[in-house]
Amino acid sequence: YDQTLEYESSIVEIDDLINSINELSKELYKMENMRKKLTSDISHELRTPLTSIQTHLEAMIDGIWEPSPERLNSVNEEVIRLNHLVNQLKNLTKYDSEKNKLEVSEVDLKQLIKNIIYNNQSFAFEKNIEIEYDLEELTARVDKEKITQVIVNLMSNAIRYTNCNCKIEGKIIIKLYKEDDFIKITVKDNGIGIPEESLDYIFERFYRVDKSRCRNTGGTGIGLTICKSIIDLHKGKIEVKSKINEGSEFIITLPA
Ligand code: ADP
Repeated sequence: YDQTLEYESSIVEIDDLINSINELSKELYKMENMRKKLTSDISHELRTPLTSIQTHLEAMIDGIWEPSPERLNSVNEEVIRLNHLVNQLKNLTKYDSEKNKLEVSEVDLKQLIKNIIYNNQSFAFEKNIEIEYDLEELTARVDKEKITQVIVNLMSNAIRYTNCNCKIEGKIIIKLYKEDDFIKITVKDNGIGIPEESLDYIFERFYRVDKSRCRNTGGTGIGLTICKSIIDLHKGKIEVKSKINEGSEFIITLPA
């Protein structure tokens, strides 16, 4: 009787093991597909500015185009975009490979946000954008470097996507407050806004709303993906509310 029982429990264990192996291979298969998609997305993203640079340079070398300051400038802009893209990709792979590796410490969020505002003031000023803030005295156990990156990305987007074509008074409002057991950080702008049909996709890798909406933003479609993976690591959430031509608001919720 004992032996039958032992035998049955071994079968159950083997079944469990087979199930785990199946789950694991499904997971690996999914990861392999994601890796393939990532590689093809990256080469596509790199190829676009490279082709443009090559076309411009060849036309100038062949004497078809004069190397005018405008043409050289446009080549330079593509080089800057490429450089930005490579840096963003480096960050993205860093955060992907450092999953679960948060360097958490008690961080003064008010000070952290104030520093970021201070560092961005001149970019905002250049675009006739005023930055307002309302920050509660709050500290939280977060990864300082990563949370800084999130707020820098949101702030830089708010500046880049405000006052692109139209000359209205730009305004960005940043808030930090506590709500129940959560810490909220919101970044709101009165810029070009995001069309409703894009709202579900903007946190996806390389997703950009119609690239011609705002010229020279040097965008890569990676910034918000990085924000989301960092906030996910902190077990928080990041949401967006936006209306086209009225503005956008990004809302971060972190466990207090
Ligand atoms: P990018 O480098 O292109 O800005 P992001 O991942 O940061 O990449 O953003 C994805 C897209 O979401 C952007 O291309 C832009 O179209 C849209 N977006 C992000 N932030 C804003 C904002 N504050 N206002 C309007 N559109 C925005």
